[in-house]
Amino acid sequence: MKVRAVLLDSVLDRAAMGVCGAGQQLARELGAELEIVAPAELSADAQAELARYGDSLLIVAGIERQQNSPEEILARLQGLESVAECVVFGNGAYQEEIAPRLAFRLGGACVGDAQSVGVIDGKIFGTRAVYGGKAMAQMVLKTSPAVLWVRAAAMPSSEQRSEPGTITKVEAGSVEGIGARVIERHKEAVDGERLEDARVIVSGGRGLGGAEPFERLKALAKPMGAEMAASRAACDLGWVPHSWQVGQTGKKVAPELYLAIAMSGSSQHLMGIANAKNVVAINTDPDAPIFKHCRFGIVADYDEVVDLLRDKLAARLQ
Ligand code: FAD
Repeated sequence: MKVRAVLLDSVLDRAAMGVCGAGQQLARELGAELEIVAPAELSADAQAELARYGDSLLIVAGIERQQNSPEEILARLQGLESVAECVVFGNGAYQEEIAPRLAFRLGGACVGDAQSVGVIDGKIFGTRAVYGGKAMAQMVLKTSPAVLWVRAAAMPSSEQRSEPGTITKVEAGSVEGIGARVIERHKEAVDGERLEDARVIVSGGRGLGGAEPFERLKALAKPMGAEMAASRAACDLGWVPHSWQVGQTGKKVAPELYLAIAMSGSSQHLMGIANAKNVVAINTDPDAPIFKHCRFGIVADYDEVVDLLRDKLAARLQ
């Protein structure tokens, strides 16, 4: 029996380690072997390191996310000769598109946005939020292969073995006749970490009242080395880019600290921060739902608190 953990980026970051961690857990619970699949663009040093996380490492040409379209990657993964009973992807627009299509093509089943994974009565399950984040459901995958995309940053950390697994390089699948091709790419400038990998996040909502206060939030974020995020309302109003949106239809984050400023804590927003370790909220309304989900809350106007907090933090963190 085989569990396959699939990486589409040629970097060994926190997300990659989360996918390997989920794969290791499932392999352990199933008594299966773990095969890690990674793009050919991964450096030789990184391949040697990655090989220590699984029983085997399969280096596959044509699956790098920056270089290939989802259709092409799908065809490559579908064309792999060996069979895996379980396939695990991380979160990201590509993975979220590829996972269910791969499951369908291979006659299996898929669960997306899994916040935890495991095995019950020999069947693989993923736990995910349902009803706009109001409940959690354990989705048991009854047909093989079981394909999951998981919140990588929320997965158990992966452990290295003393002996590296075998490394094999393959060219699989054919991309001939695929209609969709990548013609051009426009990369959004990202200053720091990906939001999904960030350890500290400062996030603003509609209560800020405009784009300018986000500059003050940036000044607060700086001494903490935090990344910036926002609610959908703030993004839809054009105050900040849509790439900052966290929530059901935005990014799923898992930081150590999530500072939620002037946002109500809608169920859709909470879906994106379910794996945040500590939420701290600032809101004028003591009954705002966000306070039910935070470790510390400040009932106050952000205008009176943010600069004070920035100065105190800057002094402490110097
Ligand atoms: P509001 O709900 O308007 O809250 C503003 C808060 O600011 C209030 O609690 C208020 O008390 C407080 N406030 C006001 N002034 C101040 C002040 N001076 N100082 C401090 N606090 C102040 N939303 C997301 O965020 N992410 C998603 O992915 C998402 N997906 C969605 C998907 C669907 C299908 C639907 C229907 C909705 C989705 N939404 C999503 C929208 C969601 O329902 C809410 O509308 C949105 O999250 C509200 O954003 P907000 O908290 O910033 O604004």
